[in-house]
Amino acid sequence: MARAAVPGGLSPRLAWRVGRLVEIRDETPTARTLVLEVAGWPGHLAGQHVDVRLTAQDGYQASRSYSLAAPQDGERVEMTVQRVPDGEVSPYLVQTYRIGDPVEVRGPVGGWFVWRPTDTAPVLLVAGGSGIVPLMAMVRARRAACSRVPFRLICSARAPDDLFYADELRRRVRDDAGLDVAYVWTRQAPPQWPGPPRRISVADVNTHGWPSDLAPVCYVCGPTGFVEAVADILVALGHDPRRIRTERFGPTGG
Ligand SMILES: Cc1cc2nc3c(=O)[nH]c(=O)nc-3n(C[C@H](O)[C@H](O)[C@H](O)COP(=O)(O)OP(=O)(O)OC[C@H]3O[C@@H](n4cnc5c(N)ncnc54)[C@H](O)[C@@H]3O)c2cc1C
Repeated sequence: MARAAVPGGLSPRLAWRVGRLVEIRDETPTARTLVLEVAGWPGHLAGQHVDVRLTAQDGYQASRSYSLAAPQDGERVEMTVQRVPDGEVSPYLVQTYRIGDPVEVRGPVGGWFVWRPTDTAPVLLVAGGSGIVPLMAMVRARRAACSRVPFRLICSARAPDDLFYADELRRRVRDDAGLDVAYVWTRQAPPQWPGPPRRISVADVNTHGWPSDLAPVCYVCGPTGFVEAVADILVALGHDPRRIRTERFGPTGG
């Protein structure tokens, strides 16, 4: 039965709650993972995001969306923020935000770009830059649920130093049977890497993805141009557009 709206009421997802920073992990020179404790957090699925709102002393407010980087874990909420040069919110979160400081969060948001541990179809994840965040939440949710669903992840990053979760990805591939990870480097490849840096191509998706007849669910996340290019490649390779789920980390308001 559908839930009736409560006059004057607000879904718990849409209420702003105060979170406090309890842990920081540096991921790259310009990105860090922030772990918040959010009292009353209603729980979430891998792939969902939160809205984060900052309020200045003069009352000015700015809010931005950040993907949840880890599966549900009580009232802990984890996100990984990449500093955007000249940005309004991300430089504060990456450089200034300190343990114990409050921040307002609202969510979880999103019901389509999600992976549930009960899902059984093979999964292809394609990440561009910080677009790896919600896809890593799916990889972590798969492990937490002891799921054996086959996962393939293709990560595109500028250079090895820009890759989030590098050590954990190595461990996941070693320990999580049925998970494969492939890399594409756009500006600087590691030593001994076969070939020069380049953008993701049909050959990468064809080689490291799934054949379309296996009917995988494809999740693509990253900057708008990256997401559009990969979605076009998947369609050209015969994947059903209804099984391609995308999330764009474009400029605010774009
Ligand atoms: C659903 C969703 C989930 C997201 N999840 C994450 C996440 O997990 N981690 C994360 O780091 N970001 C994520 N983002 C992006 C995030 O919401 C902000 O857009 C980003 O942090 C920049 O905010 P800002 O206030 O620092 O920059 P702004 O003040 O909004 O922008 C400053 C300048 O940078 C440009 N710009 C803005 N955003 C980007 C960008 N992403 N890439 C390149 N240029 C940009 C703007 O056009 C502008 O010129 C997500 C976005 C969406 C919509």
